[in-house]
Amino acid sequence: MSAPRRIPRPTPQTLQEPVSEPVWHERECIHRRSGQLGEYYSGESYVRALKLLRRERAARIAGKVGAFYWSDAPRTRVWLCIDCAEEISSRD
Ligand SMILES: [Zn+2]
Repeated sequence: MSAPRRIPRPTPQTLQEPVSEPVWHERECIHRRSGQLGEYYSGESYVRALKLLRRERAARIAGKVGAFYWSDAPRTRVWLCIDCAEEISSRD
């Protein structure tokens, strides 16, 4: 008898983890320049959320955000507009 496994799902809340280490890199989505509202998220939570998405969807989102090495995620913060944050947090 085993309990059903819970699959963690990214939510806007899980994206908002405090960045504990010094931030060396900054990336942003393409919408920042058009004056959209948005927020910074830790690179680690961004990468974690991307990994949970289907490949196409992850690629589509990643294409809108400046690329960085995932190994740099602990030292990277990512600015996402509200729409991109929602897209990365929702499942289709
Ligand atoms: Zn965006």
